[in-house]
Amino acid sequence: MSEEEKREGGDRLKLAIQKSGRLSEGSLDLLERCGLRLRRGREQLLARIDSLPIDVLFVRDDDIVEFVEQGVCDAGIVGENVYKERYLGEGEGESLEVVRYLGFARCRLCFAARDIEEGEGVYSYMKKREQEGLGVRIATSYPRTVRSYFSDYGGVEVVTMSGAVELAPRLGIADAVVDLVSTGASMNAHGLEVGETLLRSEAVLLSGKGGVREGLVGVMEKLLCRVDGVLHARGNKYIMLHMEESRVGLLSDVIPGAESPTVLSLSGVEGIVAVHLVCHEDVFWETMEALRGLGARKILVLPIEKMMWEV
Ligand code: ATP
Ligand code: ZN
Repeated sequence: MSEEEKREGGDRLKLAIQKSGRLSEGSLDLLERCGLRLRRGREQLLARIDSLPIDVLFVRDDDIVEFVEQGVCDAGIVGENVYKERYLGEGEGESLEVVRYLGFARCRLCFAARDIEEGEGVYSYMKKREQEGLGVRIATSYPRTVRSYFSDYGGVEVVTMSGAVELAPRLGIADAVVDLVSTGASMNAHGLEVGETLLRSEAVLLSGKGGVREGLVGVMEKLLCRVDGVLHARGNKYIMLHMEESRVGLLSDVIPGAESPTVLSLSGVEGIVAVHLVCHEDVFWETMEALRGLGARKILVLPIEKMMWEV
């Protein structure tokens, strides 16, 4: 970092994202969609953004919460699961807040065991163990979340592991595990049946409670406005179609929010119009079929890249 960059550092918003892992691609994609092009520094640990005074730090996801907490960074993108684990039962959550849910890196933190029936709840499993005079050792990387979830049960021992948690039962280290699951295939491959979900998680944008430092309020506002634009556009689609002019009023039965679509005449065609509208949710095949049911033809559904949409 040059002297000039160091001096400037104070006026630049520092955003921490995961260097490499399951959050990285989504985080970089979000920044790109926000129009924030990264200029990677020589050391690859820090990248400057030219269009806004933001520096991006590439770190391990486990460090992100602490960095924001200590003011090393002003904001960070991390799994909600990691944030919750850090703060459960500590009351420290006072110093940080989730400013946006980002909708990617979705996963579940689940209980899994070898001797659990499909769909069996934790309560029934624990009772069964208790009746057999057995306690339960649970291996996990999320000890606080697990202790809190199982606080009403006796005989629970938590074995903290930083990785390879699903191997613990086979190694005889634990009877059950609590770990992140997206499809459950990896658990099944290790002979474990996935049971109850303790927590659902997605990537979140964190900042200090009460917002960022005074000089950075404007930058943060701009960043959030762009993030909102991206998030908003993601769930919305642009629809174009042709239909009988007399039936345009029926569109709102099929597409919520379609009360005032743009209606364009087609040159040389009487009674048929082109309709353009924004649909505020994903468009499924059922919606397409319903549109055809209204006599719509030439239906095009397009993704929206950005949106500034005042309702
Ligand atoms: P690091 O090297 O940065 O410490 P890591 O190995 O701890 O990385 P990853 O496996 O990359 O972390 O997961 C990071 C985050 O991605 C998780 O905390 C979780 O929020 C999210 N995630 C989404 N899907 C999954 C999944 N199927 N398994 C694990 N994590 C997932
Ligand atoms: Zn990690």
